[in-house]
Amino acid sequence: MCGIVAYIGQRNAYPVVLKGLKRLEYRGYDSAGIAIINHGLHVYKKKGKVAGLEDYLTGRNMESHIAIGHTRWATHGEPCDRNSHPHTSGDGKLAMIHNGIIENYAQLKQELLNKGHVFSSDTDTEVLIHFIEEIRNSNQCSVEEAVRIALKRVVGAYVIVIVDEDNPDTLIAARKGSPLVIGVGKGEHFLASDASPIVEYTKEVVYVNDYEIAIVKADELILKNITNERQTPYIQKLDIELTAIEKGGYDHFMLKEIFEQPQTIFDSLRGRLDAKNGQLTLGGIREYADVLKNANRIIIVACGTSWHAGLVAEYMIEELCRIPVEVEYASEFRYRNPVVGPGDVIIAVSQSGETADTLVAMESAKQKGAIILGVCNVVGSSIARLSHAGAYTHAGPEIGVASTKAFTAQLVVLCLIGLKVASEKGTITQQRFQHLLDELQDIPEKVAATLQLNDAVKQVADKYKDARDFLYLGRGYNFPVALEGALKLKEISYIHAEGYPAAEMKHGPIALVDEQLPVVFVATRDSFYEKIVSNIQEIKARKGKVIAIVTEGDQIIPGMADDVIEVPEADELVAPVISVIPLQLLAYHIGVLKGYDVDKPRNLAKSVTVE
Ligand code: GLU
Repeated sequence: MCGIVAYIGQRNAYPVVLKGLKRLEYRGYDSAGIAIINHGLHVYKKKGKVAGLEDYLTGRNMESHIAIGHTRWATHGEPCDRNSHPHTSGDGKLAMIHNGIIENYAQLKQELLNKGHVFSSDTDTEVLIHFIEEIRNSNQCSVEEAVRIALKRVVGAYVIVIVDEDNPDTLIAARKGSPLVIGVGKGEHFLASDASPIVEYTKEVVYVNDYEIAIVKADELILKNITNERQTPYIQKLDIELTAIEKGGYDHFMLKEIFEQPQTIFDSLRGRLDAKNGQLTLGGIREYADVLKNANRIIIVACGTSWHAGLVAEYMIEELCRIPVEVEYASEFRYRNPVVGPGDVIIAVSQSGETADTLVAMESAKQKGAIILGVCNVVGSSIARLSHAGAYTHAGPEIGVASTKAFTAQLVVLCLIGLKVASEKGTITQQRFQHLLDELQDIPEKVAATLQLNDAVKQVADKYKDARDFLYLGRGYNFPVALEGALKLKEISYIHAEGYPAAEMKHGPIALVDEQLPVVFVATRDSFYEKIVSNIQEIKARKGKVIAIVTEGDQIIPGMADDVIEVPEADELVAPVISVIPLQLLAYHIGVLKGYDVDKPRNLAKSVTVE
């Protein structure tokens, strides 16, 4: 969600920032803009794609050694040129880009209007840069000092980066609640919302913490806290390669990421699973093994696809560990004054590790005495840093907005956590433990076999691409898979789709069934199999079209369903990792056949850094 890029150094800054904005496109945005300093401050911004901005700037003199760039995901004011970032101060000397929301902007705006400020946009961002200007003028202080004072009054989440026409060798940045990474080069610095615009230039990065202000020159990086004390920048090494953020011959990032899953699941298991010797190691939670074992309950907080992974984990952990598990939407949990405290363990699940709602939910549970485990994909992300302990999913950068490989990696890691706790707690027999380790070991190969079904799934996609609605049904471990399948379809094909527990269908959704409605059943062989066969009959009796995901060799369902996709057999506990693959492919192909940009679906953002 929203992208921030800035550069200061010896290179021409504009191409670096433009390329950086392209690398951040996957996060989702509606407009783009850039500011440079070359005999004065110049700001260019346009509604629409970065390529449109680039066309608009072709032929202009964009020479500058300092630049800030932004892709906006509108929160305050419609997407249009006027509301795009950068925004400028009243005197036109300061330009600022901002990710996040200034919650008390209306009050600040009124104060500024009373003082005679004139605004040209509807954004909260423009209010903040005017507020900073006002403080600088009335206190006769530096911009840095004005930022510090301003941020003490600002309520909300933000990353800001400011350039000042009168001080063209300094960038000033600050963060609270939204991500900011600074790449440290030789005589140059790169600022960005994540590492993807930085990785091709330097592997040395500093993650800026909340309430820190960065004063960045070509050859100097100063970090200060909000009370003006110098902080030592902690330089970390990036562990991603450029190839990981490029398409590598695939038509879309989403397809590439679907096909990467045998490898990414293997990476999630690497160094943790040793099935041959019956061993499971999770270094990241070792110190909290006792806390987990003795937890009164586990609360999983997440949003979107990660929430679906949490639902699967609820089934897994309750079965394996006999600990009560609740799965909460982070956005609800944070606002509803939940009963939580010592003895509770929160597992926060997030691909980006920056999901705003999840972060705040964690913070409040932490204050109430709960122990927090983070399960996220982006190393060094805010959730990882806020957690007491946790496990990275190691799926590599996920660029496609609709999550695929991050989901299966989450399932695998949550399963490992469940198995580890169960073995320590003694709630699993040695035989079942070993069986599940063996099953996990086989997953990458079975996922690879499932991906061979790509053409068959494409045919199904072609047959049903014009349907107006879809229903996805599953039971037990496959119920959250049905939810995830429906979400994928909605996200990238804009077809209305609903996921339900198959038995719940009779309590409402069955009213939708007619000969036009495709119903996707996730009906692999498990303890609910006979029940789901009856549910399929119920749909067929009402002339619905049934697309069934079944286990290889199924003798019954192919005789009833209109279309069948057979996937390799797996223990029901790990089956979701396999049964979700055809649903990812189905959504992908329908989206592509309908002519949509599946990597950047409308209105969606990759990393939801505003609440
Ligand atoms: N709240 C700001 C706006 O609406 C920034 C949104 C963003 O993060 O892109 O312009």
